[in-house]
Amino acid sequence: MKVTGEMSIGRVSRFGTAGNIKAFDPRLGTEIEPSFGIATLNDVDEACTLALQAFESYRHTSPETRGAFLIRAADNLLALGDRLYERAVSETGLTVERIKGETARTAAQMKMFADVVRHGRWRHATIDSSDPARRPVPKADLRMQKIPLGPVAVFGASNFPILYSVAGGDTASALAAGCPVVVKAHGSHLGTSELVGKAIQAAVEECNLHEGVFSLLIGHGNAVGEALVDHPAIRAVGFTGSESGGMALVRRGAARPVPIPVFAEMTSVNPNFVLPGALRTRAPDIAAHFVERMTAGVGQMCLKPGMIVAIDGVGFEQLRGALAGTLSAVRAETMLSRGIYDNFNREAKRSREGKTSVSIAKGTAPKGRLEGQSEIFEVDAAEVLAAPELAGEMFGPAAVLIRCESEDQLIELTASLRGQLTMALHMESTDLDLARRLIPVLESKTNRILANKFSNTVEIGYATVHGGPYPATSDSRFTSVGATAIERFLRPICYENLPPELLPPALQDNNPLSLWRVRDGELERR
Ligand code: NAP
Repeated sequence: MKVTGEMSIGRVSRFGTAGNIKAFDPRLGTEIEPSFGIATLNDVDEACTLALQAFESYRHTSPETRGAFLIRAADNLLALGDRLYERAVSETGLTVERIKGETARTAAQMKMFADVVRHGRWRHATIDSSDPARRPVPKADLRMQKIPLGPVAVFGASNFPILYSVAGGDTASALAAGCPVVVKAHGSHLGTSELVGKAIQAAVEECNLHEGVFSLLIGHGNAVGEALVDHPAIRAVGFTGSESGGMALVRRGAARPVPIPVFAEMTSVNPNFVLPGALRTRAPDIAAHFVERMTAGVGQMCLKPGMIVAIDGVGFEQLRGALAGTLSAVRAETMLSRGIYDNFNREAKRSREGKTSVSIAKGTAPKGRLEGQSEIFEVDAAEVLAAPELAGEMFGPAAVLIRCESEDQLIELTASLRGQLTMALHMESTDLDLARRLIPVLESKTNRILANKFSNTVEIGYATVHGGPYPATSDSRFTSVGATAIERFLRPICYENLPPELLPPALQDNNPLSLWRVRDGELERR
C-alpha cells in the first residue's frame, strides 16, 4: 500500500482540492512526498452524511459481525508492517521500537473492543418487572439498555501517531459502540494516518459493512475540524491535543443548534509526591526513575511525570542532586514538530527567566535541529501557591521540583493544583498517615492514583482509567482508554410496557443474546 496523499470518504479514496500540505521529517528538516489534498467543505459534508446513512445498519450489526470487523481492522493495521513503521518514524522522529510498540497496543486495543462488543455488558441491559397488583399505582414493566449516539468525529493526537490517532481508543470505542467514525487526520503524521485509514477502510469493505462506517479527512488550520464539529450528522467528538484546541471544540460543540458532547483529553503534569520515608530511604532511585520517565519519548506524553514534590528534610538535597546528576547525561532528541518544539522552548524559557523558579539541571546540549534539551526547575511551594501557572504543563522533556516546608503545605499545594490524569505517591510504611491525609485530596484532583510507580504508560484493560477533572479532560466522568471508553458514545433508553414482540433482543425475556443482565436489582446470569 503506497501513500498517495488521498483521504478516504466511505469506499472512495480521493485527493482533496481545498489546497495542499506535505508531511514533514523533523529529523531531516525536509518535507516528505507526496502532497496531501485538503478536504473541501463538501468533502466534510459527504463523509458525515455517509456516516449518518451507515448508522442505522451499523448499529444493528450483530456482536459477532461488529467484533469480526474490529479484529479485521486490527489485523489489517498489523499487516501494514514496515511500510507503516518507516512512514511513522520519518513523520515523527520517534524510534521504530516505539512505533512498533504503539502499533501492537493499538491492534490489541481494537481486539479487546471486539471482546467488549461480544460480551455485551456495555448494553447495561436492565429489567424491572411489572407489578399490576401494586397499590395505589400498578408498577410498569421497565426495560433499559444503552444504544449508540450516532456518528462520532475523532481528532487524532500529534504525539501518539498510532495509539491516539486514526485507529486509537476514540475510534475503536466508537466503532465498538456502533457509531460510524469520521477522523480528522493530524497534520504531523499525514502519511501514517492515510495508511491506517486505508487499513480500516479495507476492513469495512471486507466485512460487507456500509461504506460510511469510516472516513478519514485531511485538514489544515481549523476549517475542516470546525466543519466536522458543526455538522448536524455528528453526535459526539473525541479529541486529544492542546487545552486551547480542545476547549475551542468543546465550546463549538455546545454552541451548535443541537449541542453535542466533546470528550477532550488536554493537559496534565502528573505530579509525583515523594513522602518523607521514601525521601529518606530511596531518593536517588526515585530521581533516576523520574528522569527516565520524564524524558521518554522526549517528554511528549500526556502521562509524562512533569512534577516532583517533596517536603524539605532528610533526603531532599539527595533528591535534588540525583535529579540533576541523572538529567545531565540525557541526550537532546528530536521533537515531533516545529510547533511543539517552539512551544516547549517558550515554556522552558519562561520558567528559566521567571523570578521564582531556578533551573537546577539540563541534559546535554542539542546538536541537531528540533532537538529538545531536557531541563528540571525548582520552585518553592509558596511561590506556586501564589502563582499557580508555575505548575503548568511544559510539553517536552522538562519538569519542576517543588519544595514544601511542611506536611500541611504539601496538602495545601496539592489542593491548589488543577485536574490531572494521574497522581503518584512514593512512600514507605512510615508514610501511611500522611498518605491517608493526602488520598482524599488526590481523589478530588485525578482519576488515577499510583503507588510507588511512575505514570507514563497506560495498561489497556477493563479497569483502565485515562481521564481526569478539567483541564486533564473536558469530562471527568469518562475514560478515553480501556473498555469503559465505550460509555462516552452510548445513551440509555428505557422501554415502558412495550409488548414482548416489539422488545429489542437485549431485553427479551428469553435473553437471545445471552447477556448478563440486571433483573429487579439482581444480576441475572446468562
Ligand atoms: P492541537 O493544536 O490542539 O491540535 C490537535 C488537533 O485538533 C489538530 O488536528 C488540529 O487541527 C485540531 N484543532 C485544534 N484546534 C482546533 C480548532 N480551534 N478548531 C478546529 N480544529 C482544531 O494539538 P497538537 O497539534 O497535538 O499539539 C499542540 C500542543 O498541544 C502541544 O505543544 C502540547 O502542548 C499540547 N498537547 C498535549 C497533549 C496531552 O496529552 N497533554 C497531547 C498532544 C498535544 P489543525 O492542526 O488542522 O488545526
